[in-house]
Amino acid sequence: MPRCLLLSDIHANLTALETALAAAAGRWDRAVCLGDVVGYGPDPNEVIERVVGLGIQTIRGNHDKAGAGIEDAEDFNPIARAALEWTHHQLEGENLRWLHDLPAGPLIQDDMVFVHGAAGDEDEYVFTVDGAARNLREAKAPVTFFGHTHVQGGFLLRDGRVEAFRPAIGPDGHPVRMELDPEARYLINPGSIGQPRDGDPRAAFALIDTEGRAVEFWRVAYDVEAVQKRMDDRGLPEPLALRLAFGR
Ligand code: ZN
Repeated sequence: MPRCLLLSDIHANLTALETALAAAAGRWDRAVCLGDVVGYGPDPNEVIERVVGLGIQTIRGNHDKAGAGIEDAEDFNPIARAALEWTHHQLEGENLRWLHDLPAGPLIQDDMVFVHGAAGDEDEYVFTVDGAARNLREAKAPVTFFGHTHVQGGFLLRDGRVEAFRPAIGPDGHPVRMELDPEARYLINPGSIGQPRDGDPRAAFALIDTEGRAVEFWRVAYDVEAVQKRMDDRGLPEPLALRLAFGR
């Protein structure tokens, strides 16, 4: 059964990434990352090296553009900007080049579309049913995978109606499988590995069953305190460390 590991918004959090990779071990044949490999977190070089080493196919996010110096960080809030400036100075030559050369989405494969924010605008946040409806109607394939909002779940269009969905993964972390209705169109967000903002601090990712047309949503608890300590040691802004514990 061909399976694709889907990651997004890793944000230089190596501990969360390693915990997710350990949970997903042996369950995937290929992997896609929807961008924001760096920014906010303490491990930009280590995370890039891991993503490259695993051959994870990656499209760029807004933090990757700013971290690579493609765009200046003036549109970011002061805290995010401080972390991006720190990131830019940390990046070693080869890693900086890799980040700089990341392709923009959309990536289209096997009748699936992969984007950072949205297909028409890589920086668009799809938070609302209205925003989702416009994107679902314009979508080039039945299923679009997106990131950027750091909220696991998404939207579906069926019989002319759009609704939002959120997988409810319990404290035991048992993954939630969602079968895809061939009559519906979907926008699906695997959630954020390194900085969840949907109220659940556990690292989020998804596995796509490309033949069975199903998506499995996962959450794994990782050692948040170890990441907070590295952020403190490296002088990253304290609010970025604190929010990891709340998933907000
Ligand atoms: Zn992000």
